[in-house]
Amino acid sequence: MDKLLRESRPDYRWAGVDHMPYKEEGSAPFKAISRQVLFAEQQLGCELRYFEMAAGGYSTLERHEHVHAVMILRGRGRCLLGEEVREVGPRDLVTIPSWTWHQFRATEGEPLGFLCMVNAERDRPQLPSEQELATLKTVPQVAEFLAG
Ligand code: MN
Repeated sequence: MDKLLRESRPDYRWAGVDHMPYKEEGSAPFKAISRQVLFAEQQLGCELRYFEMAAGGYSTLERHEHVHAVMILRGRGRCLLGEEVREVGPRDLVTIPSWTWHQFRATEGEPLGFLCMVNAERDRPQLPSEQELATLKTVPQVAEFLAG
């Protein structure tokens, strides 16, 4: 396999890149999402991953110290950024700051795929406590978003 050029394959896959589960099953709530690590060279200090959720799928609602830099590649959906809910589509750029609650949800009817850059060394995501979830849900658009 050519390590310097890994060609794209149909359906947002790449030569030599494993198509993996998003996270360990049962480790956190999520639905219908896959993960491909595109770049993880030690010298980079960061990783570039491609996540894709099927129609109606969603990523884990979480927060952490590390930052995400996201570019939407395919489909449309919505993302939660703190107390804001934003519509996203192809080539939009999304910055997720430290300690900001975030979640992506694909629109019904089409998958949502995005690139996500992160530090190679990073803290573990936190999930919301019951109390934190209740507080988030006091914001009407957040409650509506989380209800799916
Ligand atoms: Mn995250």
